Amino acid sequence: MKTTTSRISIPTILNVGRGNLADVGAAVRKSGFSNAVLCFGSGMVQLFGESITDSLQKANINILRLFEQDNNQIEYLAGFAYGIPAHTQVIIGVGGGRVLDMAKYISFVNNLPFISIPTSVSNDGFSSSGCSLLVGGRRRSVPAKMPYGIIVDINVIKNSPEGLIYSGIGDLVSKITAVYDWEYEEQNNKGMVNDFAVMIAKKSVNSVVRMDIQLNIRDEFFLNELVDSLIMSGIAMEIAGNSAPASGSEHLISHGLDSLLEKPYLHGIQVGVATYLMSKVQDHRAARVTKFLVETGFFRYVKSLQIQAADFEKAIDIAPTIKPDRYTYIHQEDSRAFAKRLLKEDPILADTLI
Ligand SMILES: [Zn+2]
Repeated sequence: MKTTTSRISIPTILNVGRGNLADVGAAVRKSGFSNAVLCFGSGMVQLFGESITDSLQKANINILRLFEQDNNQIEYLAGFAYGIPAHTQVIIGVGGGRVLDMAKYISFVNNLPFISIPTSVSNDGFSSSGCSLLVGGRRRSVPAKMPYGIIVDINVIKNSPEGLIYSGIGDLVSKITAVYDWEYEEQNNKGMVNDFAVMIAKKSVNSVVRMDIQLNIRDEFFLNELVDSLIMSGIAMEIAGNSAPASGSEHLISHGLDSLLEKPYLHGIQVGVATYLMSKVQDHRAARVTKFLVETGFFRYVKSLQIQAADFEKAIDIAPTIKPDRYTYIHQEDSRAFAKRLLKEDPILADTLI
């Protein structure tokens, strides 16, 4: 029995705003760091290198090393992590999910604080303790630790490719089905929810899906809410001590696709489609999920990717085997049969997938 209150790690630096890449140095200095290693994703030095290195130099932060790469194979990173200079005090990652996961992992291995500076928000990884790495060539979730700092420049996110924004939208909306799966697990005496994590996860998604979204996805207010909510989703996982508040049957379907496809689609794209499907299977807030995904243009975008319904069908069968210890809707045979039927019969899915 657990009788103590929960203790969690939360980021010390949290700065979401416009034009704040110029403030990175001041934020790092305020925390007392003077020796940093910078990891940029491919192409990111050209875009953001100057503003970030200028800001660090102005704040008298020594840049011990500056890397630009996107190799997220765990076998490679384990060796790479040991090459970090001994007097490094902080590791700063700048770019998309891949480089942030890489920098998060090498910080974890070196027991150093990590500052996460996402240049796109395609999932909640920039604010969570886990990372997604290639293990034996396949995308897998690997434990690491919560970033020490999160700095998000909304101007930068606003200019990121629409597919990445849609992926963030898909990953966020999944809290609706994930939390419902978690509660279902508890109702069936197969697990226990953490009420605080449930509250945070619900609040995070509701603040976005309840917005009046007759707007474009590059609206700054919308993006600010999306970013804040993805951060809260990362915190909900930290409170729970596992990914359950942010990852249910819809994520298992996405993991099924990851294990199946040579080139999987963006995480949040797969998850968003699976959330729509599972909200219908669960018969839970399906109208809200539908309205949100239709009005943001999510399905219109997904249609352009020409994703095969047959792949989803296979992924549905694989899904329960990904986490056999969990007990979500997708672990039920009749739910899987219903989900597969929806792939063919649901008008939105029939129109979106090929
Ligand atoms: Zn996710």
